[in-house]
Amino acid sequence: ATPTAITVGVGRGAELGILIKSGEALEAAEKIDTVAFDKTGTLTAGEPAVTDIVGITLDDTSVLALAAAAEQNSSHPVARAIVARAEEKGVEIPETTAFETVRGKGVLATIRGDLIALGNRALLADSGIELPTNAETAVTRLEGEGRTVAILSVGGTVGGIVAVADTVKPTAMAAVSALREMGLSVMMVTGDNATTAGAIAGMIGIETVHAGVLPDAKAAEVAGLQNRGQKVAFVGDGINDAPALAQADLGIAIGGGTDVAIESGGVVLVRDDLTDVPAAIQLARKTIGRVK
Ligand code: ADP
Ligand code: MG
Repeated sequence: ATPTAITVGVGRGAELGILIKSGEALEAAEKIDTVAFDKTGTLTAGEPAVTDIVGITLDDTSVLALAAAAEQNSSHPVARAIVARAEEKGVEIPETTAFETVRGKGVLATIRGDLIALGNRALLADSGIELPTNAETAVTRLEGEGRTVAILSVGGTVGGIVAVADTVKPTAMAAVSALREMGLSVMMVTGDNATTAGAIAGMIGIETVHAGVLPDAKAAEVAGLQNRGQKVAFVGDGINDAPALAQADLGIAIGGGTDVAIESGGVVLVRDDLTDVPAAIQLARKTIGRVK
């Protein structure tokens, strides 16, 4: 493309709230054949709320109190949802004497001398804790409904389950169908488990899901696609997404996201409207000349 065409394309993008940081980013956008979306905060609002509390060996109030205590020092969206619900209910939150986050899995804490683990199946498996049948049944049902489940273990025994649900952004479905009509492959990459992620992907119309991807492994997922010859755009909002945004042929950062994500993207979407993803690629195609 001529320098003039690129300047025109970048200027047109700016008018639409699609900030294209360089001519290279615009040229990369024209060649994209695969769009990978982060889930939480990108396809979903990223503000989950507690939907279910299931007591196993403990009553619901104790489950919520211990879960909130364990999550007090975590900034994860799941943690914020649990603490908010405990505060809303006026539940007394016990003191935590030790606390540790396990990235992509959950938290560990010591409460009244008991070792508490709260997080996904992988966190419990790491501690050698097995789910009793009634807990397994509840977790599977909740995951099938698209909930993210935090399993509470107290001293190695599963005491209960807290489920949270996030809402799909209203523009997600239209964005995915537009990308598909443009001939692009669309996928979801998430740290959440396959069942929950699959349920949410189903609501949006995404068929390919890479689930259980630990925060540091998102960039490797993108590199894996590139090794197969795919030209990949990664769309993300969070700190965890920065390496994947940088690795992708085109990083598209959601403008409301974290500063690190915004710095790592070649394109920044000012508005929280996912249809700006197909719009950005369409703009590049028109500017560079694949579509007249
Ligand atoms: P995502 O890709 O959905 O943003 P993360 O990589 O942050 O997710 O975490 C992956 C999964 O680990 C979450 O879906 C959740 O099940 C679990 N998890 C992570 N942090 C916490 C936490 N503080 N409390 C409970 N569960 C957590
Ligand atoms: Mg995210």
